[in-house]
Amino acid sequence: MDLYEHQARELFAEHGILVPRAEITDSSKEAREIARRLGGRVVVKAQVKTGGRGKAGGVKVAADPAAAELTARQILGMDIKGHTVGTVMLAQPVDIEDEFYVSYVLDRTAGTFLAIASAEGGMEIEEVAAARPEAVARIPVDPAEGVTTATAARIATAAGLPPQTVDVLVRLWNVLTREDAVLVEVNPLVRTAQGQILALDGKVTLDDNARFRRERWGTRETAHGDPLEADAAAKGLNYVKLDGEVGIIGNGAGLVMSTLDVVAGCGARPANFLDIGGGASARTMADGLNVILSDPSVKSVLVNVFGGITACDAVADGIVSALDSVRLTKPLVVRLDGNNAARGRAVLDSRAHPLIQQVPTMDGAARRAAELATDAD
Ligand code: GDP
Ligand code: MN
Repeated sequence: MDLYEHQARELFAEHGILVPRAEITDSSKEAREIARRLGGRVVVKAQVKTGGRGKAGGVKVAADPAAAELTARQILGMDIKGHTVGTVMLAQPVDIEDEFYVSYVLDRTAGTFLAIASAEGGMEIEEVAAARPEAVARIPVDPAEGVTTATAARIATAAGLPPQTVDVLVRLWNVLTREDAVLVEVNPLVRTAQGQILALDGKVTLDDNARFRRERWGTRETAHGDPLEADAAAKGLNYVKLDGEVGIIGNGAGLVMSTLDVVAGCGARPANFLDIGGGASARTMADGLNVILSDPSVKSVLVNVFGGITACDAVADGIVSALDSVRLTKPLVVRLDGNNAARGRAVLDSRAHPLIQQVPTMDGAARRAAELATDAD
């Protein structure tokens, strides 16, 4: 998960990296008040999780509080690369003497971290790297050793950064490692006319696997895009909308992935990916069925469960009780195998719903669901 600039700078400040004074707001009226508090002249910055805001007109200097209100009104609601601006940050302007680029990224291929630094900050680092690769230093960082003062000095020297940046490089490493980040980037890191080193922009990407202990930033990304995906995300389901006609529910990502393949192999197209995981409670089953059945392109639904820790009779109970709250409008093909499969099948048999049929094998069930989807045309 990416953080907003104002969240990234919070972390920077907590780790002793200097940032300009700033406040955020979603109202242009309040922007005027904030500008007054900050001394009148401010930089108004769109808060969106994408770079290149400056070029897109999302970063502007306002000379006084009245101009700040006007500028905030212009920037709020603006679209920057598909991101709508809902919040602006107003920051005290800084007298820039020099702009640098510094970042730490996880280099998955090399299995290590990489410090990337350049004395040519302010512009897009990709452009600098393309035009003058020698201007960008790339130094591997041993994760066990981390960035000591000596390592930081090596990075600064290689990139041609002034010695005052060494301390910031160490602190930025602390942000990466102590805040569960996989990327931290400051562009530009600036030297002011007074010789201070300040982070004027910040990007932090957190490790999603650590989200459970980072509730401060929200436990899930606000879903955007497909309304079914947003609905599923709100219900805590692992759902991805696809463009076919066979709805799919399974337990375990691997099984669901291979179910998609088998359905495709039968000449039909999967309408979605939905992994109900280990629990498969009645609630999860009802939620999952509801999301899938509200997709108008779905013609049939395939439930493919291999009971390991999950018992098939619990899944069957889940389906049966889901029928209380879900109006089944499309044929449901169920394949139950593994732990307590016989009991699970018996539960569904005794419910005897006209739209539910059971097929004992994965291939057979996929073929049946594919046929039903094609027949429905
Ligand atoms: P980005 O375009 O999304 O990377 O947004 P930045 O936060 O990096 O802002 C773009 C540019 O605006 C920076 O590279 C700076 O040159 C400039 N800028 C941002 N804040 C200030 C400031 O306080 N004073 C001055 N003079 N320029 C600033
Ligand atoms: Mn920037």
